[in-house]
Amino acid sequence: MNFEFPEAIRALATETRAFVTESVIPFEDDPRWGDHGPSDDLRRELNDLARRAGLFGPHIPRELGGLGLGHLDRAAVFEAAGYSLLGPVALHCAAPDEGNIHLLDQVANDDQKDRYLSPLAQGERSCFAMTEPDGAGSDPGMLRTTARPVGGDYVIDGRKWLITGARGAQFVIIMAKMQGGEADGRATMFLSPMDRPEIRIVRDMHTIDSSFAGGHCVVDFADLRLGADAVLGEVGKGFEYAQVRLAPARLTHCMRWLGAAARAHDIALRHAAKRKAFGTEIGRHEGVGFMLADNEIDMRSARLSLQEAAWRLDRGERGATVSSMAKVQCSEAIWRVVDNAVQVLGGIGISRETAVERIFREVRGFRIYDGPSEVHRWSLARKAMKRVAAEGQEDRR
Ligand SMILES: Cc1cc2nc3c(=O)[nH]c(=O)nc-3n(C[C@H](O)[C@H](O)[C@H](O)COP(=O)(O)OP(=O)(O)OC[C@H]3O[C@@H](n4cnc5c(N)ncnc54)[C@H](O)[C@@H]3O)c2cc1C
Repeated sequence: MNFEFPEAIRALATETRAFVTESVIPFEDDPRWGDHGPSDDLRRELNDLARRAGLFGPHIPRELGGLGLGHLDRAAVFEAAGYSLLGPVALHCAAPDEGNIHLLDQVANDDQKDRYLSPLAQGERSCFAMTEPDGAGSDPGMLRTTARPVGGDYVIDGRKWLITGARGAQFVIIMAKMQGGEADGRATMFLSPMDRPEIRIVRDMHTIDSSFAGGHCVVDFADLRLGADAVLGEVGKGFEYAQVRLAPARLTHCMRWLGAAARAHDIALRHAAKRKAFGTEIGRHEGVGFMLADNEIDMRSARLSLQEAAWRLDRGERGATVSSMAKVQCSEAIWRVVDNAVQVLGGIGISRETAVERIFREVRGFRIYDGPSEVHRWSLARKAMKRVAAEGQEDRR
């Protein structure tokens, strides 16, 4: 196996990291970055800087104006972008837009691509509405939002929440359960502009994170009538398309958050090399040194795991199991790294004197979205049990 990125990708990652350090990090104190994410005004300014640097849209297909990177090559560039929480915003490779671009590129028809994918690729925003207060969450089968076929159209009703980027999004991808018709009871994805009166942002949710543009919202759909041209792909295939989005989107989250963890670790490492206690630099005390060493081990194994999974996606594999394993491994490793960074910094670790405090708040959610760790473990264990059942029941000694 070759563990080296091609020269052009290494150069691009280096350029991205330099851009983030020199041009993006200075915006981290910008008052336009509030509790519900960077404002669209700030986001557009950052997008312009990235465009001028030739770094906008690393994952966006070339024909849509992006750099057209494959899954593995993204790993190097997205990690470099993640070094600032605003880096992925600047490069337009943040969630949920990045995953939505991939989904539309794979599933949308030509008209839908013109109407939704092209503006999205150019810097508009979108959201993906699946999770519900009393319905779909870890168990998507509990979907309660309905789509009724009415005279060739579909009427959608339901409430979603935790919808990232809903405020300010140009359009939404809605996951709904068919009520009646041929695909009765099956999930379907619909595309709708957000500026319909039947779509209401009920409220912006107050969350511990704040790096996603448009925050996280409660959104109601009431008697939302959409034509057949709003169906993404085919009626009844919503869960299949969710899988198309899922594996790559999980991995890109791993890549971006790994960049954020690397920043937290760098800050902690520099602090440990300078700050003294009990007659020496704190990094020379075993308790601190071991935390720093554990961070380096965790980041390395997380990186290898996600890169191997990305390599499989590039080979055309679905990657459901490997991306699930990588997601658990990365989200938990990243959490440990950032938590250790806070500890090494002592009191300032929980203050806004460094970027670590914010990174700490940002990464917590990653053990929950794209499948909580427990759900991945539960599903992996079920697969292992199935495997052993297929192999036969004799004990091995
Ligand atoms: C920051 C953030 C952004 C998000 N953005 C979006 C978005 O843009 N669009 C969207 O649709 N959703 C979004 N979500 C929602 C996210 O997808 C859900 O939070 C996630 O799927 C879990 O669902 P839930 O919150 O309903 O938790 P629940 O399903 O209620 O689960 C709660 C807990 O139960 C446990 N659990 C559940 N099932 C099992 C099991 N089988 N075995 C063991 N333990 C289990 C887990 O510990 C889990 O954390 C976002 C969430 C967060 C935190």
